[in-house]
Amino acid sequence: MTDIEIAQQTKMEKITQVAAKLGLAADQIEQYGDYKAKIKLNADQAAKSFGKLVLVTSINPTPAGEGKSTVTVGLGDALAQLKQKTAIALREPSLGPVMGMKGGATGGGYSQVVPMEDINLHFTGDMHALTTANNTLAALIDNHIYQGNHLNLDPRRILWKRVLDINDRALRHIVIGLGSPTSGVPREDGFDITVASELMAILCLAENLADLKRRIGRIVIGYTYDKQPVTVAQLKVTDAISLLLKDAIKPNLVQTLAHTPAIIHGGPFANIAHGCNSVLATQTALRLADYTVTESGFGADLGAEKFMDIKAPVLGKTPDAVVIVATVRALKMHGGVAKDQLATENIPALKTGFANLKRHIASMKRYGVPVVVAINQFTADTAAELAELKALCQQNNTSASVANVWAKGGTGALELAEQVLKLTAQKTEFLPLYQPEMELEEKIKQIITQIYGGRGVEFSAKAKRQLRQFKQQGWDKLPVCMAKTQYSLSDNPKLIGEPTDFTIHVRELVPKLGAGFIVVLTGNVLTMPGLPKVPAAAKMALADDGTISGLY
Ligand code: ADP
Repeated sequence: MTDIEIAQQTKMEKITQVAAKLGLAADQIEQYGDYKAKIKLNADQAAKSFGKLVLVTSINPTPAGEGKSTVTVGLGDALAQLKQKTAIALREPSLGPVMGMKGGATGGGYSQVVPMEDINLHFTGDMHALTTANNTLAALIDNHIYQGNHLNLDPRRILWKRVLDINDRALRHIVIGLGSPTSGVPREDGFDITVASELMAILCLAENLADLKRRIGRIVIGYTYDKQPVTVAQLKVTDAISLLLKDAIKPNLVQTLAHTPAIIHGGPFANIAHGCNSVLATQTALRLADYTVTESGFGADLGAEKFMDIKAPVLGKTPDAVVIVATVRALKMHGGVAKDQLATENIPALKTGFANLKRHIASMKRYGVPVVVAINQFTADTAAELAELKALCQQNNTSASVANVWAKGGTGALELAEQVLKLTAQKTEFLPLYQPEMELEEKIKQIITQIYGGRGVEFSAKAKRQLRQFKQQGWDKLPVCMAKTQYSLSDNPKLIGEPTDFTIHVRELVPKLGAGFIVVLTGNVLTMPGLPKVPAAAKMALADDGTISGLY
């Protein structure tokens, strides 16, 4: 059975019943139909203290698939089965990957969040609100230039781009304002995918409406002819942009197939943005539940690093345990096996590929947080391979558990859940990777040497110039958000496994003062992805009775 068929067969609980499990009354949520709701801001304020936080991350992704969301959902269901008051906190899917490479992003098999069609498509409209708010700002900027440009904005130095939540490579570089003098001032522009926009990062880091406004006001939209930064506050449209997000800022509540509450809110990509669901959603989960299971994007080098160094300081909470998802298949690929050979047992390749997992185990332990490996079981995995992987983890002084959540739901992760309960009961001391007052260059070096396992960094002439400028502006106290390929620990997607002795090449820095970090562009990371030759869209169908298929 496909994921969507399993999801469609499930009888969901009414969203009011799901809310009640978190102690939320019907008037503390805003219902979007029977099975979706937004949680009103401050609905969680009665409970002041936070429960335990479990962060799910993974090895570097491969075409074999790792199943991080699937394990996150399965682990949440397992904790609920063990009678723990649990909430799952996930990211909202972007339509780009849904229509492109990946298909749905709501877990898989018997570990899914539902209603999966809605969550994967328009959900409660957050992506549309973000797209509209972003493009409203773009229109206001171009109108300002057209109407006399009192702020002296240099049209060649506008940083704010337009966005669309679809992979559309043809829009990466465009020229706008063509036609006639009344059609605006021509300039080069481009589209990013919505989830790469600074507004998405802001939505995910804002603590409340006042903070949302503060952050939006601080956004640098571009530079003047004499190279001074210009902000949204100077354009005097902070409130206009903020009010377009007044509903999008509220966390969304849905359920798993086993009716565990799942809060799904915000979804920046981890390769070009910070890759974590919203602070508001995670805080709500932490206040309302005893155990919150959340995930960060892509591998631990990207998503989890950014969780620790960008999100956790705003969240006011660091993880009590980290779960690293690995699969036998993916590790065999890291060990050099081709995708069409993965069904054959191959212990030597598994041992070689383990180096990738080992690197992530070390980098997560570096933060002083207890780590457990979740081995996401696939049907072709042999008993010998599963035993070998478990043994390799144990030789590394790391607990590991086989999770069969795709086939069995929460029941397949009871052992993992027990291990998580044990680990989160330990007292730990979080060791941050860097301090705010460190120079940007030093922060970048820390990430490369301690998390990626690389040797060092090389800055382009432009990046070197920017390092000096950003210091002069006083922006160097901010954390850094690395934009890097997800496939490799290095900036070269072809270097899988555990590359060593590599240098990361920094092309450019981008100030994201609203989000509160500096984006560091390395290698060739695209902020507007393209569609593959056979996009997932080509397999989707809508029956005359409204039933959807092909969303995986
Ligand atoms: P990630 O979060 O790592 O991107 P997902 O959890 O979204 O991965 O899973 C991606 C796809 O892989 C989904 O379609 C899911 O059904 C499938 N998948 C995940 N785990 C398994 C498994 N153990 N066996 C078979 N398919 C799986």
